[in-house]
Amino acid sequence: MKDLTISGSAESEEKTPVNPPAERSPARPQKVGFVSLGCPKNLVDSEVMMGLLARAGAELTRRAEDADIIVVNTCSFIESAQQESVNTILEMAGHKIGGKTKKLVVAGCLVERFRDQIRRDIPEVDAVVGTGELEKILAATGVSSQTATPNNSPFVVLQSRPEGDARAAQGRFSRESWDGAVSDLPNYLYDDATPRILATPGHMAYIKIAEGCDHPCTFCIIPQLRGQFRSRRFESVVAEAERLAQSGVREITLIGQDTTCYGEDFGLKDGLALLLEKLAAIEDLRWVRFLYAYPNKITGKLLETIAGHEKICSYMDVPLQHASASVLKRMKRGGGADVFLRSIAKMRRVVPDLTLRTSFIVGFPGETEKEFEELCDFVREAQFDWMGAFGYSDQDGASAYALDKKLSPREIERRRKHLMSIQRQISKKKKKALVGRELDLLLEGESEETELLLEGRTAMHAPEIDGKVFVNDFPEEIDPQPGQFYRCEITEAHDYDLVAKIL
Ligand code: SF4
Repeated sequence: MKDLTISGSAESEEKTPVNPPAERSPARPQKVGFVSLGCPKNLVDSEVMMGLLARAGAELTRRAEDADIIVVNTCSFIESAQQESVNTILEMAGHKIGGKTKKLVVAGCLVERFRDQIRRDIPEVDAVVGTGELEKILAATGVSSQTATPNNSPFVVLQSRPEGDARAAQGRFSRESWDGAVSDLPNYLYDDATPRILATPGHMAYIKIAEGCDHPCTFCIIPQLRGQFRSRRFESVVAEAERLAQSGVREITLIGQDTTCYGEDFGLKDGLALLLEKLAAIEDLRWVRFLYAYPNKITGKLLETIAGHEKICSYMDVPLQHASASVLKRMKRGGGADVFLRSIAKMRRVVPDLTLRTSFIVGFPGETEKEFEELCDFVREAQFDWMGAFGYSDQDGASAYALDKKLSPREIERRRKHLMSIQRQISKKKKKALVGRELDLLLEGESEETELLLEGRTAMHAPEIDGKVFVNDFPEEIDPQPGQFYRCEITEAHDYDLVAKIL
């Protein structure tokens, strides 16, 4: 029996209700279980849907077998993610046969892409909810109450960027070739008034500061799935961060498809830097970071802001996707190894002790051995702290789908493994250099690998994506608690993980 990966506050002590659920009606509340797949952006959508349901009187459960209603919030990023989503839907559908579950709802990116097919081919699915329809989770699940009035202000896009409008005119967001997709692009964006139940441990939270994307990357269908770029209001993000801090959150990670465009749609220059500055002034927060920076949107002001505030982690996640100028041109991203190396040198100059993460797509259509070697050389030279590599995967609806000279899956995987083996050596060396260093550690609790060890993260580790710090020693007089910060010394290094003792 699968344990639902996400659950709400009703049965789980470590979940933090951001807005308390309304008083429940005397009738037995409907039990709702959530499975949230994909990235942290999808996780925030799940948290918002859980908040809406809890406010309407539903009870959240982490056990699929106890759920009257199961919601699967899907991912459609690449083929393997789509397959995982379908497998999970089918697995959860099993709870309707001879189980307690009465309703199965499918939400998220897979719905935006395959709305009709899900309905047609998986008859166990009772309702679907797209990424732009989160408030419809109430109608889809049948959970409703008088308090469940949808917030009607934040769901409307008030502004768009000229860049997005121009791309829209060029057909960037067109879903015409998609069988069954609704023509209206998602324009939903939650606000600080929207109820939300954290599914992360109580000491950390993601905040989605923007949604959608206007960039033209040819391998990506996220703009069609999520709509045009739009930012949340500055005051709304700050209000949410303040409330989270009051409820015990100490680390905030800002997310969006592209966080570095934040505020451009309402004419704000250096919006992300201004936002970070404001969040760093919230007393109870200890770490603030952001993910998903677009390379040519990193300004001097942003770097100076990171460098100038202790609470803003000296950490940047800049997905570069490739380093060969010709491949990047075909990806419609621009840049190249030389430009990137100059930019990285500047980042490291302005932000001392910067931790730099990136990711690449390997095996893009037409990628020659020479272009791949350029990428390998670049990785050797750039010396990233963290790096991910994805094999190119064809997406019907992305413009790269029509490109010829596709590489075989086997060759793509060979190149991906080769690139990762280069990074493994770099990571090993970098981690070894940390032995003996004293760093602040946020303790997360017992290690997932063994109960004999504790586990935590330093400012160099973003939640969920980077390596781990195992804690194998601490002074007798302390009783280390999850969610607390401790000074530690790094005592051992592995390829990606570290071992530390609390001082
Ligand atoms: S910037 Fe990211 S989300 Fe936007 S189109 Fe490119 S890859 Fe997709």
